[in-house]
Amino acid sequence: MAFGLIAVALAAAVFYVDTFTDIEGAIAVLYVVTMMLAAQAITRIGLLVIAATCAVLTLLSYAMTHADDADLQSTIRMIVALAALFVTTMLLLKTETSRLTLHSINSALKESEARYRSIFDRTRIALWERDYSKVRSYLMDLRAQGITDIKAHARANPAVVDHCVDLISFVAANEAAREMLGPESPAVGILRRPTIPRHEKFLDVLQAIMDGETVFEDKVQIQSDNGEGKLVLLSISFPEDPSAFNRVVVSMVDITQREMALKALAEAQAELTMASRAATVGAMSASLAHELNQPLGAIVVNSQTLLRWLDRDPPDLAAVRRSAERMIRDSLRASEIIQNTRSLLSPSSNKLEDVSLDRLADETMALMEHELQRSGITVFIDHQKPHIPPVSAVKIELQQVLINLITNAIQAMDEAGSAERIIRIAMERPDIEHVCISVRDSGPGITEDAKDKLFAPFFTTKATGIGMGLSICRSTLEARGGTLDGTNHPEGGAIFEMRLLIKPEVEHA
Ligand code: ADP
Repeated sequence: MAFGLIAVALAAAVFYVDTFTDIEGAIAVLYVVTMMLAAQAITRIGLLVIAATCAVLTLLSYAMTHADDADLQSTIRMIVALAALFVTTMLLLKTETSRLTLHSINSALKESEARYRSIFDRTRIALWERDYSKVRSYLMDLRAQGITDIKAHARANPAVVDHCVDLISFVAANEAAREMLGPESPAVGILRRPTIPRHEKFLDVLQAIMDGETVFEDKVQIQSDNGEGKLVLLSISFPEDPSAFNRVVVSMVDITQREMALKALAEAQAELTMASRAATVGAMSASLAHELNQPLGAIVVNSQTLLRWLDRDPPDLAAVRRSAERMIRDSLRASEIIQNTRSLLSPSSNKLEDVSLDRLADETMALMEHELQRSGITVFIDHQKPHIPPVSAVKIELQQVLINLITNAIQAMDEAGSAERIIRIAMERPDIEHVCISVRDSGPGITEDAKDKLFAPFFTTKATGIGMGLSICRSTLEARGGTLDGTNHPEGGAIFEMRLLIKPEVEHA
């Protein structure tokens, strides 16, 4: 307002001096000062109006004073004054445009800051901002001195950890962070409380900063105000620009419940696997009884023969020896069969060994011979691939999967009353790392409805099924880096394929 009034007064004074006094000179140039003062108070349109007014006043004054005796000098002065007005107006308009742009950028910045604040405050993830700039400079200084392993350095200088804790300061925390740690403001307590309780984890964070990593993520055990222990996923994003280390965002997600659920799931899965093994043994007991019958029968026959050779006069000791040897062989066979069954349930059977798939298929068929015969099924094992190497696996696991697949095939053909009953077992080596073993039947195939859910736990189409077989088989193989898939064969029937790593990586093993 004051600028406006002074501008008007100045314009009037300039007009007066220019028109009614004899002072020679480009007085009208002083309108420029008027413009500059007015620019402080008015908008762009106002500025144009004032500029036009000053130009009119300049022309008016010229007309009033030099209408009759227009000389070159006064005309030049008038033109200079008009030019000065024009240039000033242009410059002022440009400045005003820049000012407006700056203003809009500034409000956009404020808006974005407010938006960020509201996300920060309202999100359900616990967030903190911490100033890591001092600790970063400290660590970089250490690095410059040739210290690259902060853990080793802290072992030698235990005070380093506390010093680093003191160098990190709190900037802000959101509501979720306060809820997670309790109503006591995390502002003071955050570093005092065991947020990163074990020095090891804290040192990991320091090491990440030292190594210039941009993300640190780990599970951390923390304690809230009321002493409640929580397991959280701690995640810190370090900026690439060192100057931004004064506002590093730290987030924590409470994963206590999730971890507990995962643990319960793993336990349930382990129990189910055990139960499924027991069920497998149960299913095999019929064929076991049948298998044991054969060596036991042979032992009885051989002992009777042995007695007869002994009763001879003189006893035929060479024949007695032969009978005794046959009895030993059959007893060993029977004990092997029993041993195999017991090992199915023993936890110590979980050892990796070299398993020949050919032999595994033969042994499994022998175990299931009775079941297969009862359902009138012919089995073809494709032994044509001599180059299939043994796989490093837990034999009993592979056998369990194979028994499950064969049992399913038998049941599918039984239920459908298939006229042709054939199971084909084939092995191949699709690449250098894997071998595949497939079980194909001549049953009705997998129904459309079942295709997507085959491996889902508790999915079954059988009246007395549990629906866990395929799900357990798949997770058993996946735990060793293998896969299990099932589909229909183009020539009919279902085909299930196990794909196994020849040498499972250590982590799978
Ligand atoms: P369950 O045998 O208790 O039903 P599984 O997980 O072993 O459980 O099998 C799930 C379902 O997959 C079966 O109910 C059946 O519908 C289908 N299935 C499995 N094997 C075959 C097969 N060889 N032919 C057709 N369907 C099959």
